[in-house]
Amino acid sequence: MASSLGRDLEGIAGAGSVLVNQADLYAYRSDATYDYATGKPDAVVLPQSTEQVAAILRYASARGIFVTPRGAGSGLSGGCTPILGGIVVDLKRMNRILGVNPGNMTATVEAGVVLDKFKAAIGPKGLFYPPDPQSASVCTIGGNVATRAGGPRGVKYGTTPHYVLGLTAALADGTVIRPGSLCVKQSVGYDITHLFAGSEGTLGIITQVHLRLLPKPKASATAVVTCNSAEQAASVVSAIISAGTIPAMLEFLTAMAVMVMNSIISPPLAGDGQAYLLMEIDGSPEQVAADVKNLSALCKDMGVMDVRVIEDKKEAASYWKARASLYPFILTMAKKMVIEDVTVPRNQLPEFVKRLGELSARLGILIGLGGHAGDGNMHPSLLFSEVDENTRHKAEQAVEQIVRMGLALGGTISGEHGIGLHKSAFVEWELGREQIELMKRIKAAFDPDGIMNPGKIWPFEAGREDQEA
Ligand SMILES: Cc1cc2nc3c(=O)[nH]c(=O)nc-3n(C[C@H](O)[C@H](O)[C@H](O)COP(=O)(O)OP(=O)(O)OC[C@H]3O[C@@H](n4cnc5c(N)ncnc54)[C@H](O)[C@@H]3O)c2cc1C
Repeated sequence: MASSLGRDLEGIAGAGSVLVNQADLYAYRSDATYDYATGKPDAVVLPQSTEQVAAILRYASARGIFVTPRGAGSGLSGGCTPILGGIVVDLKRMNRILGVNPGNMTATVEAGVVLDKFKAAIGPKGLFYPPDPQSASVCTIGGNVATRAGGPRGVKYGTTPHYVLGLTAALADGTVIRPGSLCVKQSVGYDITHLFAGSEGTLGIITQVHLRLLPKPKASATAVVTCNSAEQAASVVSAIISAGTIPAMLEFLTAMAVMVMNSIISPPLAGDGQAYLLMEIDGSPEQVAADVKNLSALCKDMGVMDVRVIEDKKEAASYWKARASLYPFILTMAKKMVIEDVTVPRNQLPEFVKRLGELSARLGILIGLGGHAGDGNMHPSLLFSEVDENTRHKAEQAVEQIVRMGLALGGTISGEHGIGLHKSAFVEWELGREQIELMKRIKAAFDPDGIMNPGKIWPFEAGREDQEA
């Protein structure tokens, strides 16, 4: 091991647990955005226990070394990028499911457990963990908690924090805390468990999580609604929500998204609509049948082009798989894509869609639109055929205007991807100075020397981060 930092970390986490060669370090510069790879870690360490994580943090804290936690690096906000160097703590070797308790409908996992692997382990026991970020094949449960990850099921079941009952975390100085418990109801002082939800690695490192589970729904059905326009699809979403028959998933797709999906599914979806809604309804068989009938009638009453209930389970699964693969597939058609993540109140979706169309025309940018519309969370994707200064400038302009548009409609600047670096310039627009100052004081209580994931959530300012930037 060439560097003394590497040798010291190996002394803590064991042989074969540290990366210091340049090619390896290069691979840890970025998350899935590739836009914020401005720094490089000095070392990457892959611990296997809470004790090792705590010892790494004690070591870093004593020397003032920056620490960036990392799950799978699938983030879309630049959250796990080590822009100021230091140590990246990669949690992927902490991947044990420590316990599943059907009698209490809970499970305890290490932070590095990959979401799909967890679902595959509990599914055969008739258990269901709803959060479903579309990166489930790679992302980790620790990363999901740290970003408050959501997904299509958010509309009916809520997002990751709704299923987090407690956790184990190591603070910046190596102190290990265990807020929360395996109880599904608790009221003991401040809710430190959920302070870690959305903390993006700035408060400490989550090493274990207690999760609440549900029984697997007995039946489900998938329906595709073909709409005349994006505005019509958005109006249908709002009408569905106000009618009170809430689908398990309610995804919004423009014609462009369906064109991409059709390249990987068979039989293809009819391509004559301008926008589509992909819905899953779940529950008891009787409830599903009744909900499908009600929702189909509602959509038809609103004048949609077609409602098709997919009878073949394999065909339905292929549509959902294609939906999950949408963004990687779009990337095969454009040289650069920036995925946005604003949420608006559901009754504002039609206006949001209309204004987005106007923005696309005004800036001359191709903007694909998809999203978890059922909970108002839209993901406009800015597509570029070239990667150059002009592209970067236009993307910045578009992101800023989309954020302003969402806020003007009473929305929020991130529904599920978090702030990281991508949205840090806009946080004050939503939260105001007072809340940011309060968050900084909270961070200082967890991380007095500011070593945890510097530069994330709010831009560099006074204090240590400013001096180092
Ligand atoms: C194709 C694709 C589809 C996606 N779809 C969705 C979606 O539907 N919904 C959604 O919400 N997101 C989605 N994402 C974004 C991303 O997958 C989520 O944000 C996910 O939760 C990140 O998990 P990760 O393990 O990759 O975390 P990373 O990207 O490694 O890290 C994310 C943040 O969490 C922090 N962190 C990670 N682990 C820990 C830990 N153990 N303790 C403390 N902090 C930690 C990091 O420092 C960083 O700030 C998608 C991404 C891709 C590439």
